Amino acid sequence: MAKRSCRCRGRWAVPHMSIPLSEPNLGPAETAHVLEALQTGFVSSVGAAVVKFEQDFAKRVGRKHAIACSNGTAALHVALRLVGVEAGTDVLCADFTFAGSGNPIAYLGANPVFIDSERETWNLDPELVVREIERRAAAGESQPSAVEVVHVLGQPARMEEIVDVCERYGIPIVEDAAESLGAEWSTGRYAGVHTGAVGIIGCFSFNGNKIATTGGGGMLVTDDDELARRARHLTTQAKVPAIGYLHDEVGYNYRLTNLAAALGNAQLGRLDEFVASKRRIANAYDEAFANLDVVLPPRVEGLDSTYWLYSILAKNEAERDRLLAHLEASGVGARALWRPLHAQPAYAGSAHIGTGVGMELFERGVSLPSSTHLTVDDQETVIKAVRDFYDGELV
Ligand SMILES: *Cc1c(COP(=O)(O)O)cnc(C)c1O
Repeated sequence: MAKRSCRCRGRWAVPHMSIPLSEPNLGPAETAHVLEALQTGFVSSVGAAVVKFEQDFAKRVGRKHAIACSNGTAALHVALRLVGVEAGTDVLCADFTFAGSGNPIAYLGANPVFIDSERETWNLDPELVVREIERRAAAGESQPSAVEVVHVLGQPARMEEIVDVCERYGIPIVEDAAESLGAEWSTGRYAGVHTGAVGIIGCFSFNGNKIATTGGGGMLVTDDDELARRARHLTTQAKVPAIGYLHDEVGYNYRLTNLAAALGNAQLGRLDEFVASKRRIANAYDEAFANLDVVLPPRVEGLDSTYWLYSILAKNEAERDRLLAHLEASGVGARALWRPLHAQPAYAGSAHIGTGVGMELFERGVSLPSSTHLTVDDQETVIKAVRDFYDGELV
């Protein structure tokens, strides 16, 4: 196996040894934008690049306001606080997701209620959300202070039922669209709407492994003028324009730097190219694995995934472990899917409404290299390694 040089690295890249899981795609446009920002001297939290990034991003996802943040977790923290999540309240949240979805709930002293996935989309199960909210209503219990919908792996969640029940009881929806930049619904009530543009606030991440990166960064989007003003205020230490330092509440240092936004501008300009690459990679994997005894990622009419991280399901946990070991030995940077949040030591004792689907996705799931600049040769190497494994399993 050829050694690879460590040129640029997402958090999930395996240095020096294998085809990375998901690496940033950086070219001349990125260099030019970052250099220009550097030359203006505006490297910190104000500057033309941040303004442009926010404006272009809002336009791209179809929302009135976009507020750049230091990362996606920070954006979610501010979003949940702004919609009224307070200590002691419950927040319904997807269970099968990255820890960055759940941690901001804990930052606010609120109690996550982790809702299991549906098998069809791997996203939180609308039926479980509806049932829990209606159960609370019937029992006269207090309703959650928010519902946090996550669009995992680039796959838009099924929204209609969740929106309807939340509207009925006045519960705000925050969308964690960290993994679904570029993904839209294509049929139904939200046809043509971008993920993150349905809830009162949507949040995105530009971590190095995401479809577009700023090195580290995030975005909060909303159509509400007052929420946007408050988001901008809270992310800049809640500093009031006045002589001297005046802060009218406890804020955060959560602004994105101009230098990072410059990188974001270059990446946003290439987003369509990136989405097309992810989908092309997914189609090639689907075709290559069609006759293997694995479950392929969701393909749901109207819920068009970007396949941010292409993931398959092995037969069971033991087979997943053997597959991961085989891929590692073959120089393929594969990785297991997330352990559901309710099963994390950090969330021991938290509420969980489950059917076992998320745990099964964890036990069986394997993500395969999905960088937007994955070469045909490298993808062939991955495909051959997976096929060789299953040929070996048969004997
Ligand atoms: C990446 C990610 C986050 C957090 O974003 P950061 O920018 O890494 O803080 C939150 N939720 C999900 C689902 C993510 O994948």
